Amino acid sequence: MIKLDLSTVLVLHVVVLLAGCGAFFHLRRLGVKPVALGWLGAGYGTQALGALFAAMGEQRRVPDWLWQSASLWLGVTGYAFIWAGLCRLSRGQRRSGDENILVLVPLGCLGLAVATGTLGSDLDRAVIFHVAAFAFLSAAAVDVYRRDATEHLRSRKLLAATLILFSLDFLAGISMIVSGTARPDRIALVFFVQILCYFAVALFVSGFLTERIAADLRKLAERDPLTGLSNRARLERLLPRPPGNATAAIMADIDHFKTVNDRYGHTAGDVVLTEIARLLVAEVRESDVCIRYGGEEFLIISTEKDAPGLAERLRSIIASHAIEISPDTTISVTMSFGVAVPRGASCTWPELLEVADRALYEAKAGGRNRVVVREMASRRGQTVAARASAGA
Ligand code: GH3
Ligand code: MG
Ligand code: MG
Repeated sequence: MIKLDLSTVLVLHVVVLLAGCGAFFHLRRLGVKPVALGWLGAGYGTQALGALFAAMGEQRRVPDWLWQSASLWLGVTGYAFIWAGLCRLSRGQRRSGDENILVLVPLGCLGLAVATGTLGSDLDRAVIFHVAAFAFLSAAAVDVYRRDATEHLRSRKLLAATLILFSLDFLAGISMIVSGTARPDRIALVFFVQILCYFAVALFVSGFLTERIAADLRKLAERDPLTGLSNRARLERLLPRPPGNATAAIMADIDHFKTVNDRYGHTAGDVVLTEIARLLVAEVRESDVCIRYGGEEFLIISTEKDAPGLAERLRSIIASHAIEISPDTTISVTMSFGVAVPRGASCTWPELLEVADRALYEAKAGGRNRVVVREMASRRGQTVAARASAGA
């Protein structure tokens, strides 16, 4: 087994902190979540400074009172910064009151050490520092883990687990000091685990940010900015999996939409599109996919048993809805629907969409404001029945 030499581990400790500090500030310069990374960089940097003060004190280069108070204050402040950075990163937004904790807790720890006359005792000072570090790290672990329900990222659990290990390392330090079993090789081991945790925190923070950016970009690429619905890119993501044989495709198109634009203007047309999207989303199941497929064309991928019934409901809701395009003008539009139902037949996405499109074409040709249903045969691509239900 490798023997850990305390002074080497302490040098490594400062080097890792400085490298981590540099890495966080570098990421921050790239414009990625700057506030959280700033706090984390400051946390690592402050820790390094505190450790340097302690090292200079050991070598009698600065007065005792200075290095003892500076190392305690900087050490606790460093963990407070790391806690604030991780919470900010995890929540993605600022929480008022955090700044007070950053000032009050380190000053409180220093005040406690001075008031109890323990500032000059290495062990007592270490206990205060360890307790504060344990509290900040375990609080950060809880914060990071708790938000998994609202924003699930794989790195979140890994980051939370690292923070728990990190805080337990400080707990081990406290128990060694209190029980009087803090030998140099054991202290070196505690520091060594801290070094690994500094590495792991930096690694998982970077993974966390990458995952979050990838998810945000995907959402952005798959969202239609006007209606807020998914766009065709979302469908592309579904395409590798074949549609289930209970998955129906409903293609819907606004009737004579061009005349809405011509008569009331493009802005009014946009209002109509947004309102139609809202009505569609309100009626389909949460698990169904509702896509703005083209200009005034929408696609619903639904697992509802009675997809033709759903299309008919949508047709009726839209036809009877008055859309307010300005304070004194409301208009009504109708939509035509083409429904492709697999009915147990296995099919591909292009086949399903083609059948829905053909049904929509028939609905238009049949007079619009109607639903045309096409069931797919058990042989791929073949349709066996066409059933039309007319509206107005
Ligand atoms: P049909 O009943 O045959 O579907 O007739 P239509 O007029 O709805 O169809 P057509 O394809 O002739 O016209 C579609 C119109 O939709 C033309 C285009 O300007 C309009 N459009 C497409 N995207 C948008 C948009 O984002 N906003 C607005 N306001 N109009 C749009
Ligand atoms: Mg149209
Ligand atoms: Mg169209």
